[in-house]
Amino acid sequence: MYRLEGRKVWVAGHRGMVGSAVARRLASEGCEIVSADRRIVDLKRQADVEAFVGDKGIDAVVVAAAKVGGILANETQPAEFLYDNLMIEANIIEASHRAGIDRLLFLGSSCIYPKFAPQPLTEDALLTGPLEPTNEWYAVAKIAGIKLCQAYRAQYGRDYISAMPTNLYGPGDNFDLQSSHVMPALIRKAHEAKQTGASAITVWGTGTPRREFLHADDCADALVFLLQQYSGAEHVNVGFGDDISILDLTRLVCEAVGFEGEIVHDLSKKDGTPRKLMSNVRLREMGWEPRISLRDGIVETYNWFLANQGAGQ
Ligand code: GDP
Repeated sequence: MYRLEGRKVWVAGHRGMVGSAVARRLASEGCEIVSADRRIVDLKRQADVEAFVGDKGIDAVVVAAAKVGGILANETQPAEFLYDNLMIEANIIEASHRAGIDRLLFLGSSCIYPKFAPQPLTEDALLTGPLEPTNEWYAVAKIAGIKLCQAYRAQYGRDYISAMPTNLYGPGDNFDLQSSHVMPALIRKAHEAKQTGASAITVWGTGTPRREFLHADDCADALVFLLQQYSGAEHVNVGFGDDISILDLTRLVCEAVGFEGEIVHDLSKKDGTPRKLMSNVRLREMGWEPRISLRDGIVETYNWFLANQGAGQ
């Protein structure tokens, strides 16, 4: 059991949806949160990261910083998705090791698994087959991050662990239609269609792919749980335990938003991987489970969208 109370924890990526949820959750455990100002520290630059970590007396690090985005962003910016993520994770992990920091949690994603791995995806499916091409750049970087944690554990005995969350959503998400993931895109599309009185919303692809969704606050809770309870080389899945087709998700979002029009498909857009439901058996066996239902989570996220950027649109 790793005691968090009174610890100084650097949450790298504290402005993002997951990072901000982790910082809130850690503060409730009595941690002192350290964050890097992006105007001063470019996480892609080794010298910046080493100067920042320096001798701040940081006890633990959560690597929630990453270049993230939906299916279109991944496909159109392969260089950034690979380079940025490799640099960010390598700089943070190496700088933490140099500074003598012995506890670190690295965050990946369910897209690390092979496209046709058996579902639900268990941790041991890693590197057993080819990746889904629409997000292989991001996946390769995240797999390298897991391996970095394992390497520093094996060679230097560092207690660095990795968690692989499923698709996340919640307050603070990116609602930009070109670069976002499906959930915030659907919330925005349904909201705007309702506001303008449009007869239909457009969903990318066939609507048949299935995805699993976990609220960012549930994810943060699981990550804190792992920081307290888990020490091991193998990464741990952080899943919700159930998935839904994109078409059914669209119906659920339309209901939450109050849009009653039609759903049409843009078949020029890709479906991506057919399914990526994670097995969260390991985490459940350790004693953790999610609390926020998909329906409640969507309503809460829509309310956040209305309060923060959707009002008046
Ligand atoms: P993925 O999980 O890496 O494939 O990333 P996304 O969240 O971007 O996409 C998930 C699924 O939702 C894919 O099958 C997309 O084609 C589908 N989808 C449907 N409509 C949209 C949309 O408006 N935006 C995005 N990003 N995906 C959409």
